[in-house]
Amino acid sequence: MPQLIAGNWKMHCLAAEAIALAKGVAAGAQGITADLVVCPTALHIAAVAQALQGSPVAVGGQDCHQSKQGAHTGDIAAPMLRDAGAAWVILGHSERRHNHGETDELVREKTLAAVAAGLTPIVCVGETADQRAGGQETDIVGWQLAGSLPKPFSGVVAYEPVWAIGTGKTATDEDVATMHAFIREELVRQFGDAGAIIRILYGGSVKAANAASLLAVPHVGGALVGGASLNAQEFLAIARAAQAG
Ligand code: PEP
Repeated sequence: MPQLIAGNWKMHCLAAEAIALAKGVAAGAQGITADLVVCPTALHIAAVAQALQGSPVAVGGQDCHQSKQGAHTGDIAAPMLRDAGAAWVILGHSERRHNHGETDELVREKTLAAVAAGLTPIVCVGETADQRAGGQETDIVGWQLAGSLPKPFSGVVAYEPVWAIGTGKTATDEDVATMHAFIREELVRQFGDAGAIIRILYGGSVKAANAASLLAVPHVGGALVGGASLNAQEFLAIARAAQAG
């Protein structure tokens, strides 16, 4: 399976900037063997999807509600993301877990809603700096996997150590190798054969300069990219470093 390179644009870009960024990614995407996804703010999904029409770059949301509709002021349902042109959705990002108190159980419900709407979820897990300092990183990630992923699970997992997100600190290749091997084991334990082929992304200060070595680590199935995805050339350089699979 090709690696997946997903850009999380977070709360960046006005509409014209998002469209220009999407067109910049699409313009350089031909010949890249990785699967490519960009995740703008939900407001811009339709415009970005239109700008990407005819290109191999897909669009994703950054969150969805667990209900398919209802009285939930300000929230966005998974079928709405799908209707706007999204095929993917990031769920359980640490910024959602920390800023909005999202629990594993809520992430699991959102994941079910996403799959029911025809979206492929990218479910994020990862430990904080304190948890790693306390030697708890695998326990934390194991609990998050057990609590956040519904059975069966059809989607992607992203390992994003919280201390590496937006900090410029990247996990070492050895840290990534250890954690990805652990996550693979857990996925196989939870899902049997299906767990052996779930893509496991790494996320946390991935940039063109470190992408090739991170993407070559065993069990790394791609990257979830924040800051560096806001520059089309940098994002494309990461994608070119990806493995064809
Ligand atoms: C992210 O937020 O998913 C992320 C990985 O951010 P950054 O690449 O900026 O560390």
